[in-house]
Amino acid sequence: MIGFTGATTTGLWLSNRNQIRNGEAELQANAEHVHQALVEHAHLGQGRSSKDWSPTEHAEVRQELRDHSGVWATLWIQQPDGKLVLPNASHIKIDKNMIRAAMKAQKKTQKKDPKILIINHEGRKYLSILSRTYPSGEQLWSATKARDTERSQNEYLGWMILIGVGSMLLSLMTITLMVRRIVRPLMQLSERCTALTADTLNQEPIPEITNAPKEVRQLARTYAELMERLSLSWDDQRRFVSTVSHELRTPLTIVQGYLRRTIKRSKGLTADERQGLQTAEEESIRMRMLLDDLLDLSRGDSGQLQLNQELVNLGQLVDKVADLSKSNLTHHKLEVVNNMPEHATSEALADPARLQQVLLDLIDNAAKYAPQDSLITLLLHPHADGIAIDVKDEGIGIPESDLPNIFNRFYRAKNSSVSSGTGLGLSVVALLMSAMGGQVYVQSKEGEGSCFTVILPKTITNFKAKS
Ligand code: ADP
Repeated sequence: MIGFTGATTTGLWLSNRNQIRNGEAELQANAEHVHQALVEHAHLGQGRSSKDWSPTEHAEVRQELRDHSGVWATLWIQQPDGKLVLPNASHIKIDKNMIRAAMKAQKKTQKKDPKILIINHEGRKYLSILSRTYPSGEQLWSATKARDTERSQNEYLGWMILIGVGSMLLSLMTITLMVRRIVRPLMQLSERCTALTADTLNQEPIPEITNAPKEVRQLARTYAELMERLSLSWDDQRRFVSTVSHELRTPLTIVQGYLRRTIKRSKGLTADERQGLQTAEEESIRMRMLLDDLLDLSRGDSGQLQLNQELVNLGQLVDKVADLSKSNLTHHKLEVVNNMPEHATSEALADPARLQQVLLDLIDNAAKYAPQDSLITLLLHPHADGIAIDVKDEGIGIPESDLPNIFNRFYRAKNSSVSSGTGLGLSVVALLMSAMGGQVYVQSKEGEGSCFTVILPKTITNFKAKS
């Protein structure tokens, strides 16, 4: 648009300049003809002056001037005394004011002959030329109306600017509308995909996008199909994990039992053989726990996690868990603190076996990530949401950047690489707590220890178990 306007304006300007040049050449040619005629008929030059003209000669000169004047151009002679000899003007209108204006403008300039000037007279442009000055003092003048393309050029520019700005606004509006139509659904898609997790894959399908271009609708459909396929493959994977875990559990239990029996009953074992069998038993226990975790997660995903919710005396349960743990915690001190007020109930809704599993898992972690001989505290205390049990240690703590992800499956903090683990324990803890209608959270500082808190609702009204 700018290029087109620039090219057209330059074209108009060039054409204006050419017209002025052509007008100038035409005037010069006409003046030359008049001069030739004046000299030929001995009206001027060779010692003749306009003062010597008889009335007939005067009329002849005027006729000559008339013959070379027209609607656009006028030729005239200025006599030494300032009087004008004008064309015999029966068919043309002589604008004497313009003639005076032309001569006045010429007087102001210092140019040599031929003096060419463009003057403005009554809003019009004229090209005026002082063509010749005779020895006797007469001057031959000519003037023509300049064909004024400047105004049309300005008008043209004005329109072009108006059209340019208009079309720019129109394009801007169209682009904004198009971008909105394309970008909004894409943003929706992106938000939906960001919020997607393995658990929500088949719960919240990608909504149908109607008000969008065909390509974006197609993209949304492809996404939806992809989600469907992912969801199917995720279900297959869950079934696979569940089946494998289930199938492995029985032989592993047999192996575990056999190892225990052998360690207990065999008499003539060397220390080395006993150590080997014990390591094998520990490893089989670890594998059994891993399979249990996988099974729990798989049941939780498929909504088949079975719970036996009942009112549990948390004081008693914490004591029991502490007793169970003490036999395993040979290198750590375990302390139980009951901060429940005397009159307050310590009962809460929970599945006692599952809650025990949760606390044992947390104690296990506390021991795993804390130095030998450090203290692990089990603290029972009232909480705004029910009753809370803290499992506190003096261990390596969890870096702040890892805290938001610590309950995610297979997630392990940066500083945990030294200890073995799978990153599944805490996700099972979170799953079980949520299934029991409770919650779990952690407060920790790297190098200063961690405190995991599980909270259980006190009354039946707070109960919101998923199972
Ligand atoms: P893992 O088998 O790795 O222990 P978990 O799910 O039990 O898996 O824990 C996930 C991660 O959380 C661990 O790898 C560790 O980085 C961190 N973590 C859990 N408990 C503690 C704790 N008591 N002290 C420090 N870090 C812990």
